[in-house]
Amino acid sequence: MVETEAYIKPEPNKQNYQKLLDTIIEENAGCRPRLLLHSCCAPCSSAVLDYLSKYFQITLFYYNPNISTEAEFQHRVSELQRLIREMHLVEKGVSILVPPYDHKEFLEIARGHEKDPERGERCHRCYRERLERTAEEMDRAKAAGESYDYFCTTLTISPMKSAEILNEIGSEIASQHALRFLPSDFKKRGGYQKSIELSRQYQLYRQDFCGCEFSKAASERERRAREQSKEKVMRAAFLDKETDGN
Ligand code: SF4
Repeated sequence: MVETEAYIKPEPNKQNYQKLLDTIIEENAGCRPRLLLHSCCAPCSSAVLDYLSKYFQITLFYYNPNISTEAEFQHRVSELQRLIREMHLVEKGVSILVPPYDHKEFLEIARGHEKDPERGERCHRCYRERLERTAEEMDRAKAAGESYDYFCTTLTISPMKSAEILNEIGSEIASQHALRFLPSDFKKRGGYQKSIELSRQYQLYRQDFCGCEFSKAASERERRAREQSKEKVMRAAFLDKETDGN
């Protein structure tokens, strides 16, 4: 995912989610709890899998109805499957579940918030929808006698996403379902940088928009604005040169 640290806004009095995760890992030393890990894309999952697969038996849950088209959704799924193979994660017990793509589910929760900026209310609803569905999968597994110990999301690795809000939503859903949410802030300790390195190493497709059509349109507007301002600078430089020559 192509995003920059420049977008991070300070969040006052926020919890140290990395420390909370360290404590849980320490408490589980000697065993490998089962983790249902919601995954948003291969680049974000790369560093998270590299880190967590040492401590947890992971099932990736690729539930992302927010993705703008089915072709984009399938492309992201196949990149994630390739990453699992090429990082030899099957040998470490990593598997993947991919519920069917249904973009209508996302459009319903985004209705009325199409013009919200990224990180706004539409995004909070989008996080909630994906985490809620992950918790429901935990419930389904429990009823089938194959329960997980924790659930979590790779989304906290992105500098564009608030770990505070994601952890608050995850904890709230966990208490409603009587489940355990694994706190995280995967961008900490160089996690985001590691995801960039692994994405280069495995030549992963790194999309230039978050996922939905609204983020795609915003990304295209920004690209056009950058091109126009570059053209303006070049035209001004050309006219300067012309004037100097007269
Ligand atoms: S910008 Fe990303 S997080 Fe926000 S609504 Fe769109 S897909 Fe979801």
